[in-house]
Amino acid sequence: MSAIFDLTGKVAIVTGCNTGLGAAMAIALAESGCNIVGVNRAAPADTLRRVEAAGRRFVDIRADLSSIEPIADIVHSAVEAFGRIDVLVNNAGIIRRGDALEFTEADWDAVVDLNLKSVFFLSQAVARQFVKQGGRGKIINIASMLSFQGGVRVASYTASKSGVQGLTRLLANEWAAHGVNVNAIAPGYMATNNTAPLRSDAQRNDEILGRLPAGRWGLPEDLAGPVVFLASAASDYVHGHTLAVDGGWLAR
Ligand code: NAP
Repeated sequence: MSAIFDLTGKVAIVTGCNTGLGAAMAIALAESGCNIVGVNRAAPADTLRRVEAAGRRFVDIRADLSSIEPIADIVHSAVEAFGRIDVLVNNAGIIRRGDALEFTEADWDAVVDLNLKSVFFLSQAVARQFVKQGGRGKIINIASMLSFQGGVRVASYTASKSGVQGLTRLLANEWAAHGVNVNAIAPGYMATNNTAPLRSDAQRNDEILGRLPAGRWGLPEDLAGPVVFLASAASDYVHGHTLAVDGGWLAR
């Protein structure tokens, strides 16, 4: 059975892999055999070290995905380095908090441009490469509990992550015929920079832990198995699915 999870020699682009969930997913993919193309604004020093310690190559691309301008170069650099692309993990994402009555256009655009627009156009560019390679490939989008629920004070984030779930389904419908699997992972409440304000608010922290069947915040490493599954042949007949990795939050 382990052979169908083996990713030896595959090439995975992971956006936002210098910290948090992206770092853990890049390391898990490398430990399963992938070479990694990391896309970040800041240096991914620790991730690079851990990928190389796993015996894999890491290509360090610095790019700001708040616009779609760097996308052509990202794909070009990945293909130049490795000759092909097999996996794309659309992980880079931000959140802005504010009451809907006061929410600004700047906080709307910043979140939607990175979390949704760049996700679509990077997926499009990578899928064109998959087709050029003769088909097959894996795209894994990072969704959220707010792909399923409304949330409060995070209007642009909820819109973007609900959009990510819809886009995952649409792209799966269009690209399954090319042998491309498009799926998403919806992390629950995970202990990263993204949720630091929630964890440092004692009341919110207690509310979240009290509702979580697993009784603990998720760790970035909790995404290791799910991302390897969705990147591997083990998920070849899984299309358009959003896999919650949430300690049971949605089951509650
Ligand atoms: P994080 O620790 O804040 O990491 C965000 C990553 O995105 C960083 O690597 C960051 O690197 C990158 N990034 C931010 N802006 C970027 C830009 N303009 N261009 C390129 N990269 C950019 O957050 P995280 O919790 O690991 O979040 C990762 C993903 O999971 C996000 O999509 C988030 O919405 C989602 N998520 C998180 C949780 C959670 O509980 N933590 C739950 C559900 C979903 P640079 O700043 O160096 O560019």
